[in-house]
Amino acid sequence: MGVILAEIEQFLAGFKRFQERYFHGGEESVFERLRQGQSPRALVISCCDSRADPGMLLGAGPGEIFVVRNVANLVPPYRNGAEMPGIRADIEFAVKGLDVERIIVLGHSGCGGIGALMEGEDGRFEFIGAWVSIAREAWERVQRELAGEPKAAQRRACEQGAIALSLENLMTFPWIRERVEAGRLTLHGWYFDIDAGELLGYEAGGFAELVGRK
Ligand SMILES: [Zn+2]
Repeated sequence: MGVILAEIEQFLAGFKRFQERYFHGGEESVFERLRQGQSPRALVISCCDSRADPGMLLGAGPGEIFVVRNVANLVPPYRNGAEMPGIRADIEFAVKGLDVERIIVLGHSGCGGIGALMEGEDGRFEFIGAWVSIAREAWERVQRELAGEPKAAQRRACEQGAIALSLENLMTFPWIRERVEAGRLTLHGWYFDIDAGELLGYEAGGFAELVGRK
């Protein structure tokens, strides 16, 4: 109980610091503007992983990024009339409602969701296997192309392949493809390497350094 209370205290203290900064401190103008509404320029699709918070990683303050988080930062392909649209509705709102100019799929190393995809169901979870199967194609490709490689290299390739697959899946949404082709929307695939503390970006079929190690 004591531990739980300490955690809550920590969160409430965090809110007080936020309040101080944006409602009494030097940045009051931020919420004066944001009270009228939001107009973030980017949609970031990232993992639920507590180590990969996009606002923190990208230094984005209130109102700057529209964030959708799910296990393994996956985007399913477009499906017309999906009964439970889930993330498709989030993406639709960001693209059609907010008219974002960029979509960043932000993955990371050591992703538990991708680990579950690679290792298969161990019976502990009810929903995760079905969810991560969105990236099955990326895992099958790794099995074909990197069969003899160490597990860690396969894992990294699978994490990065899943990001590339999500970018492909985004392009199956007709109103995304249309905006990309008209130059109104740009798609990015980024990979946060937790071990190295680096950020990589997807380009020309592979991942290259965007922000290297200091
Ligand atoms: Zn993850």
